[in-house]
Amino acid sequence: MKEALLTMARTMPWYFPTVAFIFGACIGSFLNVCIYRIPAGKSVTRPGSRCVCGKAIAWYDNIPILGWFILRGRARCCGQAFSFRYPAVEILTGALFLACWLRAPDLPTALAWMLFTSMLICATFIDLDTMTIPDRFSVGGFVAGIVLSAFIPGLHSVDGLRLTGFESLLSSIQGAFIGTALIYWIMIVAEIALRRPAMGEGDVKLMGAIGAFCGWQGAVFALFGGAVLGTVAVVSWGLTKLILGKGLGGLPPGDNAEELAKAVLPGAAGGDDDVPEGAMPFGPALAGGALLYMLLASGYVSDYFSQISWLFLRNR
Ligand SMILES: [Zn+2]
Repeated sequence: MKEALLTMARTMPWYFPTVAFIFGACIGSFLNVCIYRIPAGKSVTRPGSRCVCGKAIAWYDNIPILGWFILRGRARCCGQAFSFRYPAVEILTGALFLACWLRAPDLPTALAWMLFTSMLICATFIDLDTMTIPDRFSVGGFVAGIVLSAFIPGLHSVDGLRLTGFESLLSSIQGAFIGTALIYWIMIVAEIALRRPAMGEGDVKLMGAIGAFCGWQGAVFALFGGAVLGTVAVVSWGLTKLILGKGLGGLPPGDNAEELAKAVLPGAAGGDDDVPEGAMPFGPALAGGALLYMLLASGYVSDYFSQISWLFLRNR
């Protein structure tokens, strides 16, 4: 069996990456359901997919990615437009699962990364929609990360370094503690400086999950890299809105600073009572930073930290 799979991987190098992408697209289809139903307190398994008009959606109209394009974004039953976000989440999940497959050191690690990626995608879109991250993704990720780390040392084996299950478990716990402590500290300082809450409890819990899966280096990278990513995303979104004006539902172009601030800070113009003025979700930025670390940057980041510590511990 194992030999047959290895032969397949050798003779058809595209086969397993393609399977990883399609598997991701199918999971992405389920994540769409989670993203819409969990904040509304509905079951994610029952009933099956339904159109807003109440009719059940047939399986052949519900094929990940393709379904949306075949129907050109409109429901077959009533012509209601479906958001492009549905296929976008499926494509994103497929692409990230493909990256997990290509970058993970072994199969168990790839599967654990896929689980964590799925949790981050749900946390990201729910946070964008509602400014909250449900505990089942943040606290759930924290628990899953610690438990899986004990059995899958590949999660913390950066740069081909081989860890035992116990060492991997320690890395995970250490990551969760350093991650939450760091963001909690920043949250308190930011709250004093800005005189309003800057980050939520959900962000602290999400950092626990990120540290549990990615270790302390990943947590540090996600926090600071995420702040950079978030700033770039917010500024470019604001500028796009300014340039395209009403086309994106934003404010018309104007040259006074107040209008610029309103366009750059989504929610600044909103009047939601629960959400402080000018607030924006930080979870998506943290999730982006964590994925960047896990799938691309972990090698460079651990090199950087080991060189830094070498500077201070030269006599070791
Ligand atoms: Zn319909």
